[in-house]
Amino acid sequence: MANTPTAQDEHRVVEAAPTGLFIGGEWRSATGDRTLVVEDPSTGEPLTEVADATPADGAAALDAAVAAQDSFARMAPRDRGEILRRTYEIMTARADDLALLMTLEMGKPLAEAKGEIAYAAEFFRWFSEEAVRIDGGYAIAPNGASRFLIHKQPVGVCLFITPWNFPAAMGARKIAPAVAAGCTMVIKPSELTPLSMHMIADILTEAGLPPGVLNVVTTSEAGPVMEPLIRDGRARKLSFTGSTPVGRILLAQSAEKVLRTSMELGGNAPFLVFDDADLDKAVEGAMLAKMRNMGEACTAANRFLVHRSVAEPFAEKLAERMGTLTVGRGTEEGVQVGPLVDGKSRAKVDGLVRDAVEKGADVVVGAEPVDGPGYFYRPTVLRDVPIQARMVREEIFGPVAPITVFDDDDQALAAANDSEFGLVSYVFTENLDRALRVSERLESGMVGLNTGLVSNPAAPFGGVKQSGLGREGGRIGIEEFLETKYVAIGFSG
Ligand code: ADP
Repeated sequence: MANTPTAQDEHRVVEAAPTGLFIGGEWRSATGDRTLVVEDPSTGEPLTEVADATPADGAAALDAAVAAQDSFARMAPRDRGEILRRTYEIMTARADDLALLMTLEMGKPLAEAKGEIAYAAEFFRWFSEEAVRIDGGYAIAPNGASRFLIHKQPVGVCLFITPWNFPAAMGARKIAPAVAAGCTMVIKPSELTPLSMHMIADILTEAGLPPGVLNVVTTSEAGPVMEPLIRDGRARKLSFTGSTPVGRILLAQSAEKVLRTSMELGGNAPFLVFDDADLDKAVEGAMLAKMRNMGEACTAANRFLVHRSVAEPFAEKLAERMGTLTVGRGTEEGVQVGPLVDGKSRAKVDGLVRDAVEKGADVVVGAEPVDGPGYFYRPTVLRDVPIQARMVREEIFGPVAPITVFDDDDQALAAANDSEFGLVSYVFTENLDRALRVSERLESGMVGLNTGLVSNPAAPFGGVKQSGLGREGGRIGIEEFLETKYVAIGFSG
């Protein structure tokens, strides 16, 4: 494929994406042939239509997952690992087409979409390696009178709900460990971006995943389709990535049948720049932490807290970088910032910016939507954002960097921790003692120390406080899909 894909390339990748529901190893239409439209957010034009699952389709998907669970749990770990390894290989070989499809349905620039495909594929590779490392133990009871056998078993049927901002990776990091552990599943991708998940389902099938192990139900009725599955009792685990309000609803629903839950919820990441920071490094990190995915990431830097002595040069350097970014359709060469995902998201970002400005923030650059079709918003830097501004508390989910100043470390830490969220924090300092002290005291599941990017399939991703429960990726990632069984063995010597 040339650097800028042609209209034919676009047509070809959209045509190649399955548009049905994937249930019991087959693509089928929704009950009543219901469909929903998938839009290109850079034009607002429809891309294609896909099946729109009803509650009856959801129930069929759960039945298929339940039917497949026993035999899949008994498949040899090596065989499960090989399916994941082949999935990694196929995704890598088809990265260009998968990335183009993602850019079309979600808007991110092609280079970022390729990055996400590589990231998603890496979850399959990582967990292909973990599938054969599920271990157990044997021990002598303290009084010597019995023996303990401890081993790990798959939790059973899983339900997954994923968002639109990383249409491939958010699913991959649930599916890959579930397959490695021997669990079957029903996944509901976001109705805004289902095509990437449909392609992954196809690739997993090509890689040898047995029918019924993965079932995909795209729907415009997330609640009515998923709630009965959560309350059914046959699924044993719910893993969700999305907003904290929806996470709370799902946790309450999960309580009825005491499901195991993993929750990757909202964030409000502080980005701390101390007076001894390397400012160029900090600006580089800020661009990554703020602008990856147009700011539409739960890991996005949401509050820039900068020491008073370096606030001026930091704001200037950041504004210069933000102001010269190329905004446009993600398929075009050189574009660095794509559209926001829909009109509602853009209106929310603009509302937060106006609120901050009305309350006294200064606009350094940007602060307005881009005219014309698509849901573009100008990269924005705001200074002196007052504590009363809504964006100090709420996730912005857009290309907006609000800066406030601090005078000492305690003040910086207090401001950073003054949030109901606790997903990730970013810290820029060249002083090792300060770096360690601050990292230890930050209330977040992850810290980016002199880096604006923490996500890595080999590392444990997740938050504390109202940012979530559990971890995805790393050695710990597979544990979320395993139960510990203990067998007490009578021993008469
Ligand atoms: P975002 O703001 O990122 O879209 P949401 O939490 O609204 O975050 O959505 C994340 C995922 O949760 C999407 O797949 C969406 O369809 C789904 N979702 C939203 N509301 C519900 C609900 N009540 N029950 C189940 N899933 C839901």
